[in-house]
Amino acid sequence: MIPETTIDKIKAVATITQFIKDTAQAYGKNKLYATCPACQYRNDKKKQGLTIDTVKQQAKCFNCGVGYGGAIDFIMKTEKLDYPAALRYIAKDCNIFIEETADQIPAKKPKKAKTATLPKIEKLPVVPGAAEVIPVTKPAGTSQKTFCDTQLADSGLTYDNIRIETVDETGTIRFISPFVQGTRDQYQNIIEHKGDDVLIRYYDLEAKPVMYKPEKANVMRPLVRLRWQNPAAHTDKDGNPIKYQSPAGSGSHVYIPEMLRRMYKHARKIKRLYIQEGEKKAEKSCKHGMLSVGIMGINNLGTNGRLPDEIQLIVQRCEVEEVIFVLDSDWQNLSETLKNGQAVDTRPRQFFPAVRNFKEYLRTLSNLGSPVEIYFGYIKTNEATAKGIDDLLCMVLPERETELPADFDFAVNDKNGTGTFVQVNKITMLPDDRIADFWLLNDAEKFAEHHKARLKELKEFKIKGFLRKFSEQGKLEMCQQLFKEEQF
Ligand SMILES: [Zn+2]
Repeated sequence: MIPETTIDKIKAVATITQFIKDTAQAYGKNKLYATCPACQYRNDKKKQGLTIDTVKQQAKCFNCGVGYGGAIDFIMKTEKLDYPAALRYIAKDCNIFIEETADQIPAKKPKKAKTATLPKIEKLPVVPGAAEVIPVTKPAGTSQKTFCDTQLADSGLTYDNIRIETVDETGTIRFISPFVQGTRDQYQNIIEHKGDDVLIRYYDLEAKPVMYKPEKANVMRPLVRLRWQNPAAHTDKDGNPIKYQSPAGSGSHVYIPEMLRRMYKHARKIKRLYIQEGEKKAEKSCKHGMLSVGIMGINNLGTNGRLPDEIQLIVQRCEVEEVIFVLDSDWQNLSETLKNGQAVDTRPRQFFPAVRNFKEYLRTLSNLGSPVEIYFGYIKTNEATAKGIDDLLCMVLPERETELPADFDFAVNDKNGTGTFVQVNKITMLPDDRIADFWLLNDAEKFAEHHKARLKELKEFKIKGFLRKFSEQGKLEMCQQLFKEEQF
């Protein structure tokens, strides 16, 4: 049986327009035209066909007379489903998670006995209407997969999972994929459907494109991030390969998956909000019931000492109770390349302020009257070497994805914050130096000991700005002459 609260959520979030097979045309205020699914009639100048009232969420065809009293009724009639089946159909389309009680699951789908505590979320159906807006990712005449296709598929995502419902300037509803095949030319122009990199288009909470003012430009441009197929061909000034690239001057923005946008639009309560680095992780998490925003990089959580507006708006409007900043399993690691005689604590010293700032920003929000519990979490090191939530879901938990939100539940309530797959630390009231302790930044000895395997390979290295080395007996020593003399 589907719980009443879930049915309420489906009713609140679902719209008839999301299931319209063709493009709906605006007609007056809060009215749309579309092809009638029953008689296939599309209105012309003489007669109206299917007319949708977007406020009342009712539709009627003036050609054949069929009427629809809402999204559920629409799906029951057009897909010929009974009420519970229509609810499930819509829930899938809206990424709403249904936790059904075992006793009344319809006989149509005999589930395996109670092996998992939660039912798995099945693959979303191909959504009518989406075909028109799914980017043309395949070169004509071939079935070759684009890099964009592969990137999504590798994370267990489809274009249907991530599509956004937008209304363009003519009032036409369009479903847009935030991930598109494309590239950027030498003049920094974004080119869609050409090249074979991934473009990630940013949309705000109102499903409007996020705009920014490029450096030395007078016009605003929509924010598009790039995922290069070949990072080695795009290096920064130090020669490091660039995987993800934001346009210069774009500032820090938050990637918002559609499910979260809908929750916001309908002011639905969100108990727990996840913040992660990366767009795909946010999408993948949302798909499996962990409502998440994506940030561009761990140090992109805020500019000018404040949270991105979007996070603030979501927390306030959706009455978020807990926010978890989730880091990858390599959160504590040193840089991949370490150089003799140079600082080895650089990477941890970038992560620490990211988590500290995250806490500070959310504390500010608490002071403004939206009390939230603040957590810092990470994926535990695992045999599968899954780094992020998306890896974990794809590599370790395929077909059992619901175990992950359950594990977060467990960890949040556990005395030590330890789940099977994740570690969660409550940091709401934790002083900054205690946060630094997660990376052992207050104690060079402990830091060196923890990273001994890698540091041993270096002749000398700097921790906290001081040159040190491991002695032949494996003890950490200072290299500075001055310090040696002081020891006597
Ligand atoms: Zn009709």
